[in-house]
Amino acid sequence: MSIAFLDGHYMPIEQAKISPLDRGFLFGDGIYEVVPSYAGKMVGFAPHIARMKQGLAAVGINLSWSESDWAELCNRLIKENGAGNLGIYLHVSRGADSKRFHAFPENIAPTVFAFTFEIAPPPVADKTRVKTYKVSTTRDLRWDRCHIKSTALLGNVLHFQHGYEQGNDETLLFNDNNELTEASACNAFIVIDGSVITPPLDNQLLPGITRQILLDVLRRDGRIPVEERTVTMDEVLSADEVWITSSSKEVAPVTKIDGKAVGNGEVGDIWLAAQTLYSAGKFDY
Ligand code: PLP
Repeated sequence: MSIAFLDGHYMPIEQAKISPLDRGFLFGDGIYEVVPSYAGKMVGFAPHIARMKQGLAAVGINLSWSESDWAELCNRLIKENGAGNLGIYLHVSRGADSKRFHAFPENIAPTVFAFTFEIAPPPVADKTRVKTYKVSTTRDLRWDRCHIKSTALLGNVLHFQHGYEQGNDETLLFNDNNELTEASACNAFIVIDGSVITPPLDNQLLPGITRQILLDVLRRDGRIPVEERTVTMDEVLSADEVWITSSSKEVAPVTKIDGKAVGNGEVGDIWLAAQTLYSAGKFDY
């Protein structure tokens, strides 16, 4: 049975209950994180917590937890839940009100909820063993604040479902100018002529921690050119390689887009180099 944390207490997840007037439930009024951990070692703990603090500040949720408070919670959940391959889900909503009213209530405490779930073992940098991904494409119809890791994920859910119903693993999203933003639950990268290219950070995409770590390990290594710039749909469809990244997938090679092969249809050499660097460096973040 998995042990969760809710408002100061640890308990079996089945016993964790919130009020239906919690604004996270009624409005999706909250911020969340997922920190991956393998055999008790977390990847990107500090940047994940920094992003959550930025998100909380951006939506005006006041929670005075320090990084070490979050570390204590994460380490306790790892201990309680067996230190395997775990995603640690952290969730802060604005809290439970006494009525349903859009304006921020005064004098309510945020709800803090956390639990762990099993994630797949991390991908190995091996072309013959890595899981490959098939994706759909669609117009990005989410809101203009995609840089905030909000619990209001209906837009993302609908985009993910679009790909899922077509038998695909993810959906690549394009803005009104046919420029790549990200995927429904991942950031996106392309490779053209040996260069790794990903859209720049702005309000159209989440500043992914995997994206951040990957760009950093590539730049430190210095052998593969890296660009953060606008990526057009034509470039995505004619790229040599396409990858999607997230905390649980790490660097995931995409081999089919809307049923058509990416590049030569095989997992690419630049992917192999990138996942090798990521695997070697990820626990340093
Ligand atoms: N983009 C979106 C919309 C996401 O939901 C996620 C992860 O959940 C990502 C990108 C990847 O972020 P990270 O690498 O921090 O997991």
